[in-house]
Amino acid sequence: MERHLEDRDRVGVADAVLLEDYTNEHAFVDNLEKRFRGNIIYTYIGPVLVSVNPYRDINIYGLTYVAIYENKNFFEVPPHVFALTDTAYRSLKEENREQCILISGESGSGKTEASKKVLHYIAAVTEHRGAVEKVKDKLLYSNPLLEAFGNAKTNRNDNSSRFGKYMDIQFDFRGLPVGGNILNYLLEKSRVINQSPGERNFHIFYQLLAGGSGELLDDLHLKRNLGSYYYLSHGEKSNVDNLDDKRAFDDIIRALKTLEFSEKEQRQIWEIVSSVLHLGNIGFMEHEGIAQLSKRDSVEITSKLLGADEELLTNAFTHRTITAHGDVVVTPLNRELAIYARDALAKAIYDRLFTWLVKRLNQSLQPEDHRKHIAMGILDIYGFEIFEKNSFEQLCINFCNEKLQQLFIELTLKSEQEEYLKEGIEWSKIDYFDNQVICDLIEEKHKGIIPLMDEECLRPGDTTDITLLEKMNKNFKMHKHYINHQKADSKLQKLMGRDEFRLIHYAGDVTYNINGFLEKNNDLLFRDLKDAMSKASNHIVNAIFPSKEQESMKRPETAITQFKSSLNNLIEILMDKEPSYIRCIKPNDIKQAGVFDETLVNHQVKYLGLMENLRVRRAGFAYRRVFEKFLQRYKSLCKQTWPHWRGNPKDGVQVLVNALGYSREEYRLGKTKIFIRFPKTLFQTEDAFQA
Ligand code: ATP
Ligand code: MG
Repeated sequence: MERHLEDRDRVGVADAVLLEDYTNEHAFVDNLEKRFRGNIIYTYIGPVLVSVNPYRDINIYGLTYVAIYENKNFFEVPPHVFALTDTAYRSLKEENREQCILISGESGSGKTEASKKVLHYIAAVTEHRGAVEKVKDKLLYSNPLLEAFGNAKTNRNDNSSRFGKYMDIQFDFRGLPVGGNILNYLLEKSRVINQSPGERNFHIFYQLLAGGSGELLDDLHLKRNLGSYYYLSHGEKSNVDNLDDKRAFDDIIRALKTLEFSEKEQRQIWEIVSSVLHLGNIGFMEHEGIAQLSKRDSVEITSKLLGADEELLTNAFTHRTITAHGDVVVTPLNRELAIYARDALAKAIYDRLFTWLVKRLNQSLQPEDHRKHIAMGILDIYGFEIFEKNSFEQLCINFCNEKLQQLFIELTLKSEQEEYLKEGIEWSKIDYFDNQVICDLIEEKHKGIIPLMDEECLRPGDTTDITLLEKMNKNFKMHKHYINHQKADSKLQKLMGRDEFRLIHYAGDVTYNINGFLEKNNDLLFRDLKDAMSKASNHIVNAIFPSKEQESMKRPETAITQFKSSLNNLIEILMDKEPSYIRCIKPNDIKQAGVFDETLVNHQVKYLGLMENLRVRRAGFAYRRVFEKFLQRYKSLCKQTWPHWRGNPKDGVQVLVNALGYSREEYRLGKTKIFIRFPKTLFQTEDAFQA
């Protein structure tokens, strides 16, 4: 009972709403640290779960723990991802309400691990037989498969997700899992062609080279030696744990089988993965400004693997066909452009293969029956990013976080308001930081940064990143959340370049460098290459480069506009669901257990908007409990309620709080619950109880 009230001196408070000074960031972080040191990684802010990455295995996820949390009231057991999942699951099962679990946090904070714990809990508490077991196997195996293709070792995280993921688990009316569906967002495809020092390309390349049989590698013309591949030679070259990659490959094969990929499909996947490595090895010379292949072998192998016409492909690397006003003009490319074309193709093939995989996975995860299902969604998506240098990708990611923050505020306020209404308690308006203004600055039709960027991408003539920046500077001259070199105060001006702009995000200020924006947004793949791909005989290749795309005269949507639509679509999906939140925190930058870097945590508390969370939650009442539970715990503190109260529980609570001397200011009685405004009141009662 009320486990979270005990031991608060030793391990802090389990719910940050019970901190006396809820506006004090230091006290909040201090509380997290106290708990972290006591090996407790979970803390609540009301219903929100805060999780601090322990960077080591703690024994809190086994079956004994499943039993502790199964069917328990959220506030009666210590904070845990199982408690949150159980509450969501019961609401889904018992009240038929669709759920979503939103996980955020910076790279390495434990989002993906948390999402797996959610899935494992669901798997543990549902039937272990027949069809259900098969569905669960598929759902569980979808993780290693997507991680192989979408995760990579970065300097922040050895298993960093380089894409955003939303996964629905679908349940039947009995609450048994019957299927799933995955949506993927913005894979970091630039990693295919280049990696920073110490980082790696996507796991799958290394896994295939380490784990593929000799025969398979021979067929794919691959050597095990990583140094043979240009696309694997930028970042981490040594120190690769081959054994793990090898084991992971076996796991992938098992996953592919479980998910019912045919032998042929598997083969074609390996052909595509290896063709990317061979593509990287295609080199060019230049003769009188015109690019030529330096050797034929890699093109030959690539064409063979993809089933593409070698002549057509070679031509596509070194020429560009443009149709203008009905005339077809073929221009040769110089070496730089040929390399650009090659890299663009490698990125496009990999990116589209990834999307194909998700689609194919979804086919396997489709429920067998066509009855209506109820879904629990899990969102594992990149948190707010502020790097030394921020570019187009950070703008996309931070925009995504603005939208999710907006959703969070909206839904939290809505549910608070609903509860007050339901309980018949007067609602006083909470003022909070409304980030609509920043979302508008980025996305508003005809006016925002996105439409300006698209306009500059589509406008004929000499558009450059700088013309885009000039346009933005002019349009947002008066905007409070937009700063450029001229607008900056003298101190900031020294730090800001003339090719930069700065946005005041809800989570902090970020300076973006404009260089590369147009190119990344255009995301151009020359037509000749698409053409060669759409004629390829590898079925997956021609499925991901449909000839329809070639025939269409319409320009494809720009990268950020596509991202914006998928994001708005996601928000719509989430809007209809009952949300639960997991906010993940990384305690240190060195991936070490037991190290709590206060400055680093402070930053994240800010970027995650946790103090704002807390403020909204505390704007009304710190604590609320149903009458029965409250009476049950504290009845011994009053003569009239001890040992039993015979009337209705609400009257009992009224008698009890009168006896305890609560003032009108300190509490309200709703229809089913008591609401206590200040933690102090509760703690005094609790201390009296324990004395
Ligand atoms: P990214 O945004 O880069 O994908 P992430 O937030 O998904 O990062 P994870 O991959 O979930 O981060 O976690 C990083 C590492 O931290 C894990 O590989 C694991 O070693 C450790 N870790 C995270 N959560 C836990 C946990 N609950 N218990 C033990 N270790 C954990
Ligand atoms: Mg992750």
